[in-house]
Amino acid sequence: MNFDDTPEQARLRAEVRQFLAAHHDELAHGDGAYLEEPGHERVDELRRTQAVLFDAGYMGLTWPEEYGGGGGTNAQQAVINEELHRARVAGPVGHVGLGMCGPTILRHGSEDQKQRYIRRLLRADDMWCQLFSEPGGGSDLAALRTKATRHDDGWHVQGQKVWTTLAQHCRFGILLARTNPEAARHRGLTMFVIDMEAPGVTVRPLRQMNGHHSFNEVFLDDVVIADSERLGDVDDGWRVALTTLMNERMAVGGGGGELGVRSDVLVSHANRLLPRLSEERRVLAVEALGRVLVESLAARYSGYRLQTTLEKGEHPGPESSAGKLTAVRVAHATADLGLRLLGEDAVLARSRDGDWRWASAAASTPGIALAGGTDEILRNIVGERVLGLPPDRPRTPAAATATPIAESR
Ligand SMILES: Cc1cc2nc3c(=O)[nH]c(=O)nc-3n(C[C@H](O)[C@H](O)[C@H](O)COP(=O)(O)OP(=O)(O)OC[C@H]3O[C@@H](n4cnc5c(N)ncnc54)[C@H](O)[C@@H]3O)c2cc1C
Repeated sequence: MNFDDTPEQARLRAEVRQFLAAHHDELAHGDGAYLEEPGHERVDELRRTQAVLFDAGYMGLTWPEEYGGGGGTNAQQAVINEELHRARVAGPVGHVGLGMCGPTILRHGSEDQKQRYIRRLLRADDMWCQLFSEPGGGSDLAALRTKATRHDDGWHVQGQKVWTTLAQHCRFGILLARTNPEAARHRGLTMFVIDMEAPGVTVRPLRQMNGHHSFNEVFLDDVVIADSERLGDVDDGWRVALTTLMNERMAVGGGGGELGVRSDVLVSHANRLLPRLSEERRVLAVEALGRVLVESLAARYSGYRLQTTLEKGEHPGPESSAGKLTAVRVAHATADLGLRLLGEDAVLARSRDGDWRWASAAASTPGIALAGGTDEILRNIVGERVLGLPPDRPRTPAAATATPIAESR
């Protein structure tokens, strides 16, 4: 693999670098994901940032031009992403729309849905959420119970979703619901676009242990959805959901990006604090830092491999699951080391107006290990599909109707 830019990529890189410097003050910056409360003010700032980048042609570069995308290549988007990272531009706030909902609409939506939704989604004019998980169905998604029943005026939806990221800011969501209770559990599901401002939708905040309100419970009480807002065929929602889940795995860490605090932030943190440590603790800390940076590089290079697969027009396989596992481990080790370097100051940071980021990051990483497929589920996928180990569930007649684990989250 050649990591050098082609002349065309070098030109693009220089152009993006120049743009980001010239528009520095219009863009939101940050030290990594999950470090700030996604309150209205910050979310508005991040939406403006996404709009500036879209207008410059840097969002959705690989998406079809007729819906607002750039019609470009994965390699070009990778160059842009690297430059955004280098300039410390905060990650896109519409990441659920970009990573999951948009690709699902592009693959399964009607022409009308693509025309109405995609451009606004890319620009974060509308924010999107993913309404899949329920109190009784997370990893085992096909166990979901939210029902949609057909009436003359459309589908009437009754049920509850949970862990819905940023739903409090979203105008639309993609919703998986049971439309045929008689069918085998993953055959009677249908996917819809839901208007989060429709009567009967109630969004209630869930507060996480990092203190933030990033996700929600969503109650659906006789919400009416027009049949034209269906995504794909009736009772074919599982196939549509697989598109979402495949894209989710690539979006959440599979692409070699950092999921937690940036590694360069950890390096400057270490440079500042290492001289204060005893010789013995310093040696241990430097060793730990080396390990984190090596893993972080390994994740980045695995991401390049995935980019190459996409560039060739092929579908990435289970390597996106392995990529997420590594990215979670890096996020966890980064937060852990940042916290250890601070020592007791980490615990007292909040009350002393100190460096709270590391405690916040450490409290966020367990959640990262669950979102977009838990570590255990991803290891099952790697075990079955990469290593060829026996399946998680015995293939008995009874298990034949159960969702194969590698196809659930
Ligand atoms: C930060 C965050 C954001 C999220 N955002 C969204 C969102 O926007 N939309 C949405 O729909 N959902 C979202 N989720 C939910 C997420 O998809 C689920 O938490 C995840 O799928 C796990 O489901 P669960 O919580 O029901 O846990 P369960 O499925 O009940 O799992 C509980 C434990 O059992 C383990 N386990 C389960 N099955 C197996 C198995 N077969 N083999 C081995 N171990 C197993 C799991 O690994 C886990 O440790 C989010 C979650 C988090 C933490």
